[in-house]
Amino acid sequence: MENEHPAVARDTTVVAAGRPLREHDQPVNVPITMTSTYFGQNPISGNDRAYGRYSNPTWDAFEETLAELEGSTLPALVYSSGMAAVAAALSLMPAGGTLIMPRHSYQGSLVLAGEEAGQSRFTLRTVDIADTAAVVHEIEKAYAPLLWLESPTNPMLEIADIQTLTRAAHDAGAIVVADNTFSTPLVQRPLEAGVDVVLHSVTKYLAGHSDVVLGALVTSRADLRERLHAYRSHHGSIAGPFETWLALRGVRTLAVRIERSQTSALELATRLQKHAHVDVVKYPGLPEDPGHERAAAQMEGFGSILCIEVRGGEAAADAVINTVQLWTPATSLGGVESLIERRRRHHGEPASVPANLLRLSVGIENVEDLWTDLDRALRAP
Ligand SMILES: *Cc1c(COP(=O)(O)O)cnc(C)c1O
Repeated sequence: MENEHPAVARDTTVVAAGRPLREHDQPVNVPITMTSTYFGQNPISGNDRAYGRYSNPTWDAFEETLAELEGSTLPALVYSSGMAAVAAALSLMPAGGTLIMPRHSYQGSLVLAGEEAGQSRFTLRTVDIADTAAVVHEIEKAYAPLLWLESPTNPMLEIADIQTLTRAAHDAGAIVVADNTFSTPLVQRPLEAGVDVVLHSVTKYLAGHSDVVLGALVTSRADLRERLHAYRSHHGSIAGPFETWLALRGVRTLAVRIERSQTSALELATRLQKHAHVDVVKYPGLPEDPGHERAAAQMEGFGSILCIEVRGGEAAADAVINTVQLWTPATSLGGVESLIERRRRHHGEPASVPANLLRLSVGIENVEDLWTDLDRALRAP
């Protein structure tokens, strides 16, 4: 039983939601409930916890908090990883149709969708998600029962017109899934734009400390939630109560982390634009960025991921990675520590991603320290 709290702003919700009842000697934080089963002797109804693969009180606290943040009327569903959530969301795709996906979606999502398409379950069509007219044409052209959105895309940071594409997909009778990992509900709320299912790699900003792997889906549609819950129960892609507790602990500081890292990301992007050893800066917060106007219209802030193309090509980009001392060379994003990665070091990364592109996940360190370290690495011979 979680405590009800008054309607508040989202930067208060991250702190106030998912708390135990305000009763004498109740804990202030939800306990980590380690159990595989629950006492029960009567016929099982849909509201019973019954068994540890169906339900857990620590999940409930996280799921209620995330639902409130995304603006869902139903609790979210936490999964064992972001990819487990991707797999569950892809299960909504009926056999025989066309799945439309951004060509720069998260690599794991593209790989899994590609595998399922390879088994002839459906056709996969990858698109330039920023080209609204072209995507609408694809939606109308074929039987496309599922539109996958990611905005900004990974790592090219293209911006999709979420509302327009969702409307076109709904007109065609499709379900729309949006991967909101890069933005978090504090920056962008796809459900408010009409999207049916929002996906998170909780591993990233929501947990926020690079110490847990977890995923989640959020939907206000009871029919979809029932299918996604059944998928989780039957595939066993369930979250550990301890990991879920860590994620909720991370969410408590989400607002201050996002505020800090977004401000630093814009500052670094602005300075990098003028850097002699940087050819291109991609960041939707820059007025010159092709996605800027659209991002400004549908996001609150521009996120904390930026990309640079290093002058001198792939070798020069690798030299930066090998020279930084404060930035951590590693994949992933969304933690308190700043991470830097040359994306094409992954063999599956599309060739449309430049070989000299570095993806920067800006953390919460002092921005001058981040700048000094990066500037020195870029200038190093
Ligand atoms: C990391 C990530 C995923 C996959 O999540 P895991 O928690 O690593 O399984 C999905 N989408 C995006 C945008 C991601 O960054």
